[in-house]
Amino acid sequence: MSWLRNWLNRAKQSADEPQTGSQSGETQSGEPPQGGHIRDAERRSLRRLLKREGDLLYDLQRAEESLEAENQWTERIEQLNRAIEQALADREAIEPAPHPEPRPQLENIPITVTDLQEAEPATITLNIGAASIVYTEEIDWAERGHQVTIPELRRVSGDVDQLMPKLESEELSQELREHLRHSLAIYANQVLEHTAAGSDPPAIALADMTRPCPRCGGWLDQKNRCPHCAGFDWKRQQIDQDLHRIRKERDDVIQDLERQRDRLPVIQRQLAETRSDIEKLREKGVEPAT
Ligand SMILES: [Zn+2]
Repeated sequence: MSWLRNWLNRAKQSADEPQTGSQSGETQSGEPPQGGHIRDAERRSLRRLLKREGDLLYDLQRAEESLEAENQWTERIEQLNRAIEQALADREAIEPAPHPEPRPQLENIPITVTDLQEAEPATITLNIGAASIVYTEEIDWAERGHQVTIPELRRVSGDVDQLMPKLESEELSQELREHLRHSLAIYANQVLEHTAAGSDPPAIALADMTRPCPRCGGWLDQKNRCPHCAGFDWKRQQIDQDLHRIRKERDDVIQDLERQRDRLPVIQRQLAETRSDIEKLREKGVEPAT
């Protein structure tokens, strides 16, 4: 049972050792404490306490600053508040300008499909009044076998000129021409997609191509979207994302400021304790370990 006796002796020695602040853990090596050994432990302990005192003084400075009327946190919060105001003003300013002159609306002439061949390359003919426009599928030979892209339709005969009203503005006339070409090509594609899926394509008339956007007066596309307004909506979304980010940062700074203020009494107490421990070691003549 000698191990038990040894163990009890060690436990007793451990309890008899002088306690030096929080450094009692230093002498649990099982060796009987030597004077030099304790001295070293105390010197290391003093070095740590001095380091801690420095850290706490820095924290104290920050906590005291946080209680001043103007400080680094309130400055940042003001900056962020100004950025929020600016973003809100920018957002307010983004309104699609109404088109200065009313846009022409076309007649309610039905658009019919007269010739549709699904075989590659697919062809489709759209008839609108006296106009007859033929499209054919643009086959990208490089993509064949992959079928990664939706086939593009190319207009091979006919145009929208017969559908164009007489307009005074050449600019507006050109705009309408492009809009019609684009819209009819999209419709031809829709018809092909519906046919491939075995469903009926939506019935459509020429007037459906020039329905006005209630917000800006521009032409809506066939899915009731206005490309003009969509651009503004996108800008608005960008600003909303910025606003979200700025508000989040401001809330974080406010939280940090409150935390700094709350910490002041805690830091003061910790500093007093640390200094008292330093004082005790100094009184014993301990010099900090280098
Ligand atoms: Zn619009």
